[in-house]
Amino acid sequence: MQLRIPGPTPCPDEVLKAIGRQMINHRGKEFAEMQNRITPKLQQCFQTKNDVLILTTSGTGGLESAVVNILSPGDRVLGISIGIFGDRFAECAKVYGAEVIPLKYEWGQAVNPDDVKKALNENPGVKAVLVTHNETSTGTANPLKEIAKVVKDAGKLILVDAVSSMSSIDVQVDAWNLDVVVSGSQKGWMVPPGLAFVSISEQGWKAQAQAKMPRFYFDYTRAKKFIPDGQTPWTPAVSVYFGLDVALEIMLKEGLQNIFARHARVADKARKWVKSKGLELLVANEKYASNTVTAVKAPADMEVSKFTGTLRDEYKVVIAGGQGGMKGKVFRIGHLGFVTEKDMDEVLGAMDKALPKAKKV
Ligand SMILES: *Cc1c(COP(=O)(O)O)cnc(C)c1O
Repeated sequence: MQLRIPGPTPCPDEVLKAIGRQMINHRGKEFAEMQNRITPKLQQCFQTKNDVLILTTSGTGGLESAVVNILSPGDRVLGISIGIFGDRFAECAKVYGAEVIPLKYEWGQAVNPDDVKKALNENPGVKAVLVTHNETSTGTANPLKEIAKVVKDAGKLILVDAVSSMSSIDVQVDAWNLDVVVSGSQKGWMVPPGLAFVSISEQGWKAQAQAKMPRFYFDYTRAKKFIPDGQTPWTPAVSVYFGLDVALEIMLKEGLQNIFARHARVADKARKWVKSKGLELLVANEKYASNTVTAVKAPADMEVSKFTGTLRDEYKVVIAGGQGGMKGKVFRIGHLGFVTEKDMDEVLGAMDKALPKAKKV
């Protein structure tokens, strides 16, 4: 089976074996040693010296944690969105009482940092900017470094959804001065769903101390207090930790730069295939094409559900359709985490065969 959706992603055998281990005491020495081994490796992947917290939740929980820890009800935030996940982040802030000023783009567009600059000039009271690095719904990677520069030059906080990019595409938390950055275990980390990772800058911690939104389970202060003991405030997803412990070892043996290069090569293969078939990427400017997920506009005569169904039933390849309003109009190939060029050749070979069988009747 080739599971090529943008999460959950496949896990290496060593990881699966680790996950099946017997439980241990999450307040005991063995767990503490494991967390103390994992955390510096996460920091390496985030390219940061900032604290990185491990939360037992999905990526969305990680985003919610950023909102409730950094903001107060009534705070003005700029909610940048180029797709479904940008909308979700902004919606979360709104639900908790933030005043969200939207900066929205059409599907397939990337953020223009000049627009961010303009929006911040026009809205001087903005406290923080919410932005998706890699928009999984449209296969578009925003120019995060340039966006962050504009935000930090304006003295604002930047909260980043890097759920589907961190550890697969270059994200330099310290060099780019990113305040809160969120990722999720089932995306580029080669482990099952269950954990979110969040880095918090010094400025982020200062804001956290002042922030008034209600929080309990996701309170960063509580989580930080448990770090020296190699623990978390609540019972963590111990099995996912087992897998992550092994996955990080595999990842750092390969090396971050090599991982980024592998994702670039695999994504390039996917994009070349799209063009060779006369199909169109959803992303308008290929410069912003994501290296972890390729979103393709379905041609007028294609039944997307027939395409994905044929791939699954006849070729054992699982890809994703479009999300939300893109349902039936887009299909997406996930190529992040445990993926090689050979995997992509197999997937594209199957797609070659399934394509003619996906016509509308
Ligand atoms: C998958 C994803 C999320 C949500 O993660 P869940 O684990 O499904 O909660 C958020 N943002 C982006 C960009 C994602 O790809």
